[in-house]
Amino acid sequence: MAAEGESGKAAGLEAEEVPVVEEPRSFKDLGVTDVLCEACDQLGWKVPTKIQVEAIPVALQGRDIIGLAETGSGKTGAFALPILQALLDAPQRLFALVLTPTRELAFQISEQFEALGSSIGVHSAVIVGGIDSMSQSLALAKKPHIIIATPGRLVDHLENTKGFNLRALKFLVMDEADRILNMDFETEVDKILKVIPRDRKTFLFSATMTKQVQKLQRAALKNPVKCAVSSKYQTVEKLQQYYIFIPSKFKDSYLVYILNELAGNSFMVFCSTCNNTQRTALLLRNLGFTAIPLHGQMSQNKRLGSLNKFKAKARSVLLATDVASRGLDIPHVDVVINFDIPTHSKDYIHRVGRTARAGRSGKSITFVTQYDVELFQRIEHLIGKKLPAFPMQEEEVMMLTERVAEAQRFARMELREQGEKKRSRNGDDDDTEEALGVRKKVAGGKKKKRKAF
Ligand code: AMP
Repeated sequence: MAAEGESGKAAGLEAEEVPVVEEPRSFKDLGVTDVLCEACDQLGWKVPTKIQVEAIPVALQGRDIIGLAETGSGKTGAFALPILQALLDAPQRLFALVLTPTRELAFQISEQFEALGSSIGVHSAVIVGGIDSMSQSLALAKKPHIIIATPGRLVDHLENTKGFNLRALKFLVMDEADRILNMDFETEVDKILKVIPRDRKTFLFSATMTKQVQKLQRAALKNPVKCAVSSKYQTVEKLQQYYIFIPSKFKDSYLVYILNELAGNSFMVFCSTCNNTQRTALLLRNLGFTAIPLHGQMSQNKRLGSLNKFKAKARSVLLATDVASRGLDIPHVDVVINFDIPTHSKDYIHRVGRTARAGRSGKSITFVTQYDVELFQRIEHLIGKKLPAFPMQEEEVMMLTERVAEAQRFARMELREQGEKKRSRNGDDDDTEEALGVRKKVAGGKKKKRKAF
C-alpha cells in the first residue's frame, strides 16, 4: 500500500507500508462497528478479505482510495462497509453514489448494500438504463441513502427529474473505475462530476486500473491512498489458463469439442459481438447444449433472466459479450472460453476473472486464430507469463465438423428469422431463450438501431 498524490507519483512508500498481517483479522479489528460486524457475520463473512484489510481502515480514516483488487476479492464490501459506517455516524439521504459500467453490476452491488445495510434501515436505489424511468423517478423522490447507477441514466435523471440533485453527496465510488473513466462515459461522467460537491470522499475500485494520470485526475481525488492486493495485473493462482491455436474456420467445431470434453462444468463463452453471441447460442442449442445468450441487444429483463437461469444452474453455457466480462459474481463458473479473443488485453483479465473465484479453481481457454496472434502476445505480455496449449485430439475435432456445419446452417436460418421477426415487432426484443427455438417467419416492419456491446 502506498500513498499516491494527484500526480500519480508514489510517495512515502515505506512510511505507508501496511504491517504484515500474520493472522486474518476480524472486521472489528479493522474498526468496523458492531452492528455492521454482525451484518458481515450473517452473510457468512467470517474474516475480512485482503482488500478489505487494506482498504477499510484507510477509508474509515476518511482518506480517498484507489483500490486495485482481483475480481471476486470482496471489493464491494471494502467500499460499502466504510460508507455504511459513515452513514451511521451522520445519517443523511442521498449520501453516496456508486457509478458502475453495466446494469448487472449495479444490481449486484445494490444486493450487497441491501444485505449489509438492512439491519440499519439503509435504502438504496438502482438507476440504470433499459428500465422504466418513471418508477426510478419515484424511487429518487423518496431520497434513498445510496444510489447505484450507470452514468447515462443517472445523467438523464439529473437533467429531467424534478427536485433530484446530488448537491449533498458525501461519497462517490467508481466501480470498474478504469472503464468509467475512459472515453465511453466521458460526457456523462463530466456532467456528474460538475454537479456533485468537490468536498466529498472518492473511492476508485477496479481489477485493472488506468495508469493515465489525466484520467484519474478527472475523478478529483484528494491525496488518495493506493490499496493494491496485486502489485501488477494478475489473474488468481487457482486459475489454469490455456490457449488453443486453430484455423478460424474451425472455431465452432473446437468449441463443441471442448464443451464435450469438459462436460459437467459450467461455461462462460465470450464472443466479440451481439450477433456472434446470438448465433453461437443458437448453434449450441441445435447441438443439444443448454446454452443461453447475454448481450446488449437484449432488453434488461431478458438480460437479467438469462443471468439468473445461468446462476441457478438451469443452463450450463452462458454466451456473452463483454457486457458480462466485468465484476459479475457467479461463483460456480468452472471454465471461461474466449471464443473471440478480446481486443483490449485488459478485458482478458476481467473475462477470466469470472472463474476461479473465492478460492475455487477454474480454467480458461483462449481461442487464437491466424488473425489473433498479435493480440494474444499482448495478453501474455500483460499477465507476464506464457500460457500452455490446451491438450486436444485434432482427429476427434474433425469428426465433429459435419454435424457442426449442419447446426451452423440452422443457426444462420434462425438468426435471419429472428431478425425479420424483430423488424416486424418494430424493434421489440425477441432475442430470448424462447426466440432461440422460434422458426416462425414474420415479415415487414421498421428496423430500430441500438447501441450495444
Ligand atoms: P466482490 O469482489 O465484491 O464482487 O465480492 C465477491 C464475493 O465475495 C461476493 O459474493 C461477496 O459476498 C463475497 N465476500 C465479500 N467479502 C467477503 C468476506 N470477507 N468473506 C467471505 N465472502 C466475502
